[in-house]
Amino acid sequence: MTAQLIDGTAIANQVKEEIKEAVARMQAEHNYTPGLATVLVGEDPASATYVRMKHRNCEKLGIRSISHVLPADTSQEEVIKLVASLNADPEVNGILVQLPLPKHIDEEAVLNTIDLEKDVDGFHPVNIGRLAMKGRDPLFIPCTPYGCMVLLERSGIQTNGADAVIVGRSNIVGLPMAMLLQKANATVTICHSRTKDLADHIRQADIVVAAIGWANMITGDMIKPGAAIIDVGINRVDDPTDKRGYKLVGDVDFDSAKEVAGAITPVPGGVGPMTIAMLMKNTLHAAEIALAKK
Ligand code: NDP
Repeated sequence: MTAQLIDGTAIANQVKEEIKEAVARMQAEHNYTPGLATVLVGEDPASATYVRMKHRNCEKLGIRSISHVLPADTSQEEVIKLVASLNADPEVNGILVQLPLPKHIDEEAVLNTIDLEKDVDGFHPVNIGRLAMKGRDPLFIPCTPYGCMVLLERSGIQTNGADAVIVGRSNIVGLPMAMLLQKANATVTICHSRTKDLADHIRQADIVVAAIGWANMITGDMIKPGAAIIDVGINRVDDPTDKRGYKLVGDVDFDSAKEVAGAITPVPGGVGPMTIAMLMKNTLHAAEIALAKK
């Protein structure tokens, strides 16, 4: 292995330790405890696991968390009513609506209802709009791209003047990631399923962020020697040697990429742990905003 391993678990633990200290300080100095409310509609097992992990992290860091689980056939109106009541609840600083929502619910309508100052997922169009604009800053940055930026910063990877290629343009990862890197003075290219000669683009990049959802798609021969590789992808592939019958791999073929890259995140243990850490950071920030208004 030639590449520096970017240890997302260790960096996330560092970030969470800082949050835990800040929460304790807030309690000691202001007698105020941050609170996160989650809304889960339906019984998707992966979504339920993510929500459980979020509550467990809150507990560890001293953040209060409130769980709302609604049946899969809940109407859009009822979900919006719940979000509106959480907007009005002074005990709630952050509201997280677990995505995806059941098909009969308009995701945009629900996300637009979340109070801008409680939008800890950073998906409100005003927050995304501010992220896109020069000289403006969002109140909250979407957690996964925020985590990728912290991984780059804390691993000493220069974004200033770097050529960055983002593969993927989703609202939750690729697009905000591109906007963040552009704000950090990188020259950004966004690639997607219609991009011609994807490998040619990747080969030019000092920083590659892969957010595709396609196991091992980016291989070592596509990477510029010394490039930093941030692999957001989480893909299940069959593995009879694992007792679950599968293992998780990224969008980057780790074994070939690590021989060429300068730095690389593993999957698991790279971007994944950062996403939850940044949600906790955004919740603390929401509490700071609320406290400043008291
Ligand atoms: P989406 O499916 O919303 O987006 C995938 C993107 O990849 C699209 O923009 C699509 O292009 C592009 N794409 C698809 N096929 C190709 C191709 N052949 N060549 C180039 N680009 C392609 O996924 P998400 O952004 O939600 O997630 C991406 C991955 O990241 C998934 O594996 C997901 O599980 C993981 N993830 C991990 C998180 C974490 O915490 N680590 C958090 C969130 C996601 P087009 O727009 O043209 O369709």
